[in-house]
Amino acid sequence: MNTPMTHTLRNSCRLALFVLTFSLVTFSLSARAGLPQASAVPGGLAVVPLARVANTSKPQAWLGKQSVLVTSDQGVWYAVVGLSLKIALGSHELRVSTDDTTMVHHFTVEDKAYPEQRITLKDKGKVDLSSKNLKRVGKEYTVIVGHKKFWRETAETDLDFILPAKGEKSSRFGLRRFFNDKPRNPHSGLDLAIATGTPVMASSAGTVLGVDNYFFNGKTVFVDHGNGLVTMYCHLDKFKVVPGQQVGKGDVIGLSGMTGRATGPHLHWSVMLNGTMVDPELFIQ
Ligand code: ZN
Repeated sequence: MNTPMTHTLRNSCRLALFVLTFSLVTFSLSARAGLPQASAVPGGLAVVPLARVANTSKPQAWLGKQSVLVTSDQGVWYAVVGLSLKIALGSHELRVSTDDTTMVHHFTVEDKAYPEQRITLKDKGKVDLSSKNLKRVGKEYTVIVGHKKFWRETAETDLDFILPAKGEKSSRFGLRRFFNDKPRNPHSGLDLAIATGTPVMASSAGTVLGVDNYFFNGKTVFVDHGNGLVTMYCHLDKFKVVPGQQVGKGDVIGLSGMTGRATGPHLHWSVMLNGTMVDPELFIQ
């Protein structure tokens, strides 16, 4: 019964099977729980495959002089590189050192047009700062940059985050903001509109790095997740943790509020990786 007809049928069955297998493989690759979503744009993440786990112990990787996070997933080592909102577009070099070699990997940063947001603040004291407040903000900036660049080497980092609270995403990462028509830095986190007193959870396991009250960010908790990954929770009403405390994913670290510069009660959540702010939503599956 080997007519041309059955041949065609058999071939199309084979094709269907191939397409099915291929799409299953593609699906399982895109649904990896261990890696955040790659988005090689300013404010995003480059996920760069480095080597097979079977061939080398954990590689080290650097972007310029900055160490970057290396993790394994399904038998492959990957560098997960945080890309600054100010990073130049085009090709970048990642220096990688394995057991026996040092080599350069390349990745390309593409453009992304983030939307615009205009905010009117009635309290002009929080837009045009007095010299006393400028001094305070300057001191606080140094502390915040220290937390942002913090590096603690750990064997594992849980990159599969949960949203720190359930609420409407009222302002997304990267928005180009204007306060009272004056251009400001783009929005460096994700805002969740939640009522004052709502429990705020650690997005992943880690150690509390800082608990402080800042002029702009208000009552703020920093959680260090290891290997240059730090999360920041701002405008809290109350703290529920102390510096140095170990927290698990989902543990309550504070209650939300509107301390600091906030137009209403909300949580501002930032994710910092290799010393730069990146889009928190890339870590949410
Ligand atoms: Zn915000």
